[in-house]
Order: sequence, then C-alpha cells, then structure tokens
Amino acid sequence: MDFSLTAEQEDFIRAAREFAEREIAPNADAYNREERFPIEIYRKMGKAGLLGVTIPKAWGGAGLDNVTMMRTIEELGYHCLVLSAVIGLNSVMTGQQLYHFGTDAQKDKYLGPLIRGEILLSIASTEPQGGSDVASAQTVAKRDGDSYVLNGTKKWISYGVSSDAVMVLAKTDERDGKPRFTIFIVDKGTPGMTVTLLPKMLTRHVDEVCEVVFDNCRVPESARLGNEGSGLAIMLSSLEGNRCAFGARCAGAIRACLDESVAYANSRVLRGAPIARHQMIQAKIADMATNMEAAKYLVYHLAWLKDSGVERARMESAMVKLFATDALMKASADAVQIQGALGTLEDSPVCRIFRDAKAHQIMEGTSEIQTMLIAEQLLASGARAS
Ligand SMILES: Cc1cc2nc3c(=O)[nH]c(=O)nc-3n(C[C@H](O)[C@H](O)[C@H](O)COP(=O)(O)OP(=O)(O)OC[C@H]3O[C@@H](n4cnc5c(N)ncnc54)[C@H](O)[C@@H]3O)c2cc1C
Repeated sequence: MDFSLTAEQEDFIRAAREFAEREIAPNADAYNREERFPIEIYRKMGKAGLLGVTIPKAWGGAGLDNVTMMRTIEELGYHCLVLSAVIGLNSVMTGQQLYHFGTDAQKDKYLGPLIRGEILLSIASTEPQGGSDVASAQTVAKRDGDSYVLNGTKKWISYGVSSDAVMVLAKTDERDGKPRFTIFIVDKGTPGMTVTLLPKMLTRHVDEVCEVVFDNCRVPESARLGNEGSGLAIMLSSLEGNRCAFGARCAGAIRACLDESVAYANSRVLRGAPIARHQMIQAKIADMATNMEAAKYLVYHLAWLKDSGVERARMESAMVKLFATDALMKASADAVQIQGALGTLEDSPVCRIFRDAKAHQIMEGTSEIQTMLIAEQLLASGARAS
C-alpha cells in the first residue's frame, strides 16, 4: 500500500482545505448558533467541485479516486462534520446510486445538478419502529397502472428541509415470504408527501432531521431507481463507501479536538504552571493523536481497497465506522474535559463536536450493529485474526 499523492490529488486536497478555511471556518459558529443547514455554503461547495469527487468527469464529477475523496472529507471534517457529510452523501450515496442505477433521464434531472450543488437529495430508509432492522420497514409502494402509490412514515431523515427530493426505500412485494424493497425518488411538493422538522436534537437543527410521511403519494414509474426489488442491494452498494466517509470526517474532527486541546493545555496556567505539565492531561492528548492516526489509516486502507477494485469490504467498512466514531466520542469528551467549564459552553467548538460525535455513533448503523457485522464476518469465514 502506498498512500503518497500525485500532484493532481495534492492540488485537489489543498483546494478543499483552502475552501474550508475561507468559507466554513469563519461561518461555522454563526450557522450553528442560528441552528440551520448552511445551504449557501453547500451551493459554493458544488461550484468548487467538491460534491462529486469520485463521479466520472462525463457526468460533471472530478473523476478522482476514493483516497482523494477521503482526504478531502477529512479536511472539511476538521471544520464541520455536517458539511463534510454532504460530500459523502453526494459522491457516495445519492450520486453513486444515480450514476450506477439511474436512467439517463434520472441522471440528467438529478445527477448533474446534485454535483453542481444546485439540488440536494435526502435518503429515507429509517422508520419509527426500528432503524437497525431495515427489513422491518413498513412503507409500501403499490403499483397502480403506470405509477406507484406510496404509504408509510420515515423518521430521522437528514436535510429534510433543504432537500429537493427524497430517495425513499419502500416495500414493493414479497418473494418466498420475504419483503422486497425498491427505491423511489420523490420530488418535494409531490401531493401526499409531508416533511416535518423534528424537535431539536443533540445536533441541533444543523442537519435538519425530519419525519417524512407518505399518504397515498402517487409517483410515476420513472421515479423508480433500478429494478423492482433491487432497493436493498442498491442501498448496500453505497453503504461501505459512506462508512469510510464517516471515518474520514471523524479523523478530521479528532484533529480539531487535538489542536484545541494542545493550545488550551499550553495556555491554561494553574498554580503557576500550564496544565500541559500534568501527565493525566498529556495522556488524553497522546490518546487523541494515536486514535486519529489509527482512524486515518483504517480509512485510507478501505479507500485503497475500493480503488483497487475490491467490491465488498463489509468487515473493513464496519471497522472504520465503529473505530472512528468511538474514537471521536472519546476525543471530544476528553477535549471538553481539558477545557473544564469553558468546554461545556454550548457554542464552543469542542462542545459542538462532542454533540455531533454522539449522533455519529448512532447514524447509519449503530456501534453495536457494526460490532455485530464484524463478528459475523469473522465467524462465518472461520478466519483467524492475522
Ligand atoms: C442525527 C441523525 C441523522 C440521521 N439521518 C438519517 C437519514 O438521513 N436517513 C435515514 O434513513 N436515517 C437517518 N438516521 C437514522 C439512523 O440511521 C438510525 O437512528 C439508526 O439506524 C438506528 O436506528 P434507531 O434509532 O431506530 O435505533 P434502534 O434500531 O431502535 O436501536 C436501539 C438500540 O438498540 C441497539 N440494537 C439494535 N439491534 C441490536 C442488536 N441486534 N444487538 C445489539 N444491540 C442492538 C442499537 O445499537 C441501539 O443502541 C439518522 C439518525 C440520527 C441520530
């Protein structure tokens, strides 16, 4: 494995870093305090070419590799977990799903505008009765002539307010007693679809977590992504990449915790000496740095596997998500602890990361589910740890 970068990769990552320093760093306090998703920065990210890193150039993307994308996400994650998340969402989840499974008409309508930051798409798979058990989803799409009628409720859906359409997983039929799911792209404003912002969560309203209700919502056949019954496979095809993206932004945010902690520990003087002198403070800082490096290399390794053409890396992607989100939780808790009462101020950068870190251990497969996935893979293969 060689993670050295070409001049093109370095230029792209440097441009992302400069974008984040120019557009995100000076504004992150304000949009977090205003509790809103900064759609104006999202649009600028599209103009700067940050939203389709791995999408081929023919469809308006940058046509670059996964390692470059993860390094880019890391740069943005240093300043804002929510904005770095939309790179993964657009490049890996919605973008790759459209690129691989969309018709030309769907690509024209959604993929180009998505990469340019002109539109935003939400993913709606979780339902109130249990997100960890995706197969228990109750939302149904019933074929009626040349259209489908959707009924059901999706919960905890990010970017519900600002998104222009929702990619929703719905049950279309059963085969051998098992439900089969299909993805539909439902435009905002379609009669029968209602989007409601949920009460304020730990992440405040910055990622606009919503409930989406379908009540006899009729969509044309052209809204279906891929074949009937292919929904879970399409969703799973992009999950591994997005778990890698989770790891990348966590690694960036751990670096932010580390920088904050080093600066504070050196400047806070108690009993005539900086608190950096204390071994218990030093241990926290050493832990942060070590976990950051470990998270980074788990991310780069998975990205490298994907760039090498490995199609399924279920265990590695679960390891990245599990390790990096837990490491960020610990790093942010320690960073708050190092700053004492100051660190608990709602608007302090470390407090913001601490809140977001908890949500990262839950979103898109909880830590417990990732642990189960890793064990399942190991036990099924009978592999001996190497
Ligand atoms: C900020 C935020 C944004 C989100 N954005 C989106 C989005 O855009 N789109 C979307 O579709 N969803 C989204 N989600 C939902 C998220 O994916 C789910 O919350 C997650 O999958 C867990 O589902 P749940 O909350 O229903 O918990 P549950 O599935 O009810 O789990 C509850 C607890 O039980 C544990 N548990 C469950 N099964 C097992 C098991 N077999 N063994 C051991 N423990 C188990 C879980 O780990 C968890 O601790 C978001 C969530 C958050 C917090």
